[in-house]
Amino acid sequence: MITLTGISASSGIAIGKAFLFDIGIFNVEKKEIASTQIEVEVHHFKEAVLRTRDEVKRLEEKVQRNIGVDIAKIFSAHLLVLEDPLLILDVAQKIREERVCAEYALESVSKNISDNFSAMEDEYFRERAVDVFDICRRILHNLTGVVRISIEDLTEKVIIIAHELSPSDTAHMHDGNVIGFVTEIGGKTSHSAIMARAIEIPAVVGIKEITYQVRNNDTVIIDGSHGTVIINPDKKTLEEYYRRQNEYCIFREGLSWLRDLPAQTDDGYRVLLSANIGTEEEVDVIKREGAEGIGLYRTEYLFLERTDLPTEEEQFNVYKNVVMKVAPCPAVIRTMDLGGDKFLTQLNLSIEMNPFLGLRAIRLSLRYPEIFKVQLRAILRTSHYGKVQIMFPLISEIEEFQQAKSILLSVMEDLEKENIPFDRNIQIGMMVETPAAALVADRLAKEVDFFSIGTNDLIQYTMAIDRVNEEVASLYKPFHPAILRLIKMTIDAAHKEGKWVGMCGEMAGDPLFTLLLLGLGLDEFSMSGSSILRIKKIIRAVQLDEAKVFADEIMQITSATEVQKTLEEMMTKRFGNILEI
Ligand code: PEP
Ligand code: MG
Repeated sequence: MITLTGISASSGIAIGKAFLFDIGIFNVEKKEIASTQIEVEVHHFKEAVLRTRDEVKRLEEKVQRNIGVDIAKIFSAHLLVLEDPLLILDVAQKIREERVCAEYALESVSKNISDNFSAMEDEYFRERAVDVFDICRRILHNLTGVVRISIEDLTEKVIIIAHELSPSDTAHMHDGNVIGFVTEIGGKTSHSAIMARAIEIPAVVGIKEITYQVRNNDTVIIDGSHGTVIINPDKKTLEEYYRRQNEYCIFREGLSWLRDLPAQTDDGYRVLLSANIGTEEEVDVIKREGAEGIGLYRTEYLFLERTDLPTEEEQFNVYKNVVMKVAPCPAVIRTMDLGGDKFLTQLNLSIEMNPFLGLRAIRLSLRYPEIFKVQLRAILRTSHYGKVQIMFPLISEIEEFQQAKSILLSVMEDLEKENIPFDRNIQIGMMVETPAAALVADRLAKEVDFFSIGTNDLIQYTMAIDRVNEEVASLYKPFHPAILRLIKMTIDAAHKEGKWVGMCGEMAGDPLFTLLLLGLGLDEFSMSGSSILRIKKIIRAVQLDEAKVFADEIMQITSATEVQKTLEEMMTKRFGNILEI
């Protein structure tokens, strides 16, 4: 039995069989081999290369047939890497000279090649670094016997153990065969963690090298609430976790009576509790949890894992389904937030050194207005079928909002000329997720209809902490007084102009912050479906004045550690059970 601890990404307990999914290449163990094994190992490597070549050729043919010659060219580039004698000779030489296993030799040779390509000035060569990385990953799978299958292809219930899960991997998790997952990298607000909470499966992220400690079909327990993973538990532990799993279900069921009750304090102060979604399928989940609308619809998922861009008609149909399912409740549709950790492959954009600081979200939309307009048309058309509000991501200065709004207005004019119905009074808002936006919130508040505070990014950009890097996860501090001040500034600025403020970052669904945010005056809390009832329970148990006094006290505290300690002490004393499970 092995017990490991990582970052809690989605609460609940999952117990099941492990399925090793895609392993990271630049993370391979150095194993020394006996001299008698050297030629066996070289042979083993060459066979893996041949198997990989066959696999890529098959893929190339399939893509050529089904998608097109242009896209199939990606695989021709991969075949060139595979046929490069240097790669094969260098790996064989390393195995022979250093007596190391093939996986390790492949890792170091491919890392050298890909580093050399990455350092080149010519963009064409820089892109080849990605080809080398991809192809070596495939060889590695063939060497280790780890099969790369898509999550869609799973036929039984498993716990996924992976180095990392891409948005396209997680997009298939709705099918029900993934009962939990553990990844080596990532943080609480990585897209995979967000997705786990949305579909309500337990998950732990940031357990380094777990892919080396688990074998396919090992029994694994994930305690997502505490960030614990147990591999091959003994009988006593297994029984204990079945008991806790049961307790968790009873706790969740015990909240269900709150479903149809309003989110209002004991003295009648009403807020809105809505949900974040990324795909159409999630609407059913959030309705079951009693969401009063959608506070954040992450539309970018529609653009991922495909070779073309979604058409206006396709987007319109998907958005319309979502909007009609939640009507008459509102749906805040956020325009595409691509870039960062959600890469748009269709435009062949160059690889960025710091994608979270790069051509992301509204910046990408303003760079490609034609693509942006297609999305805006689809969203506006949808507004005829329910209550739609539109929101722009990652605004950091006033001109960005004005430009985005003026494109939206020009699209409205087009629709009017074409006699296509839409809501002329649609509310136009923006996310506050950069310190720059929060610091000029008083000015922005005059331009917008509403703000939605995106704490996932606000914390990342304020604290200079990469939100998906598990190495610095402990420094990612929502408790920091700087974050609390930026939130307060944003709320105060909006209220001064008579505008409403929501929060759709993960902080909104964290029960530790509910009383504080209520006291600061937040109007709307938007979170993953699984958090709604817990947060509602807290809101209904308190008085508004109590929340205000509490918020005043918290805002006086000097350090993040003290804020955390005080919140934990006060909230545990008041709501113990809700916070612990
Ligand atoms: C945020 O940044 O808080 C947010 C809700 O947006 P995303 O997590 O999609 O970046
Ligand atoms: Mg964000």
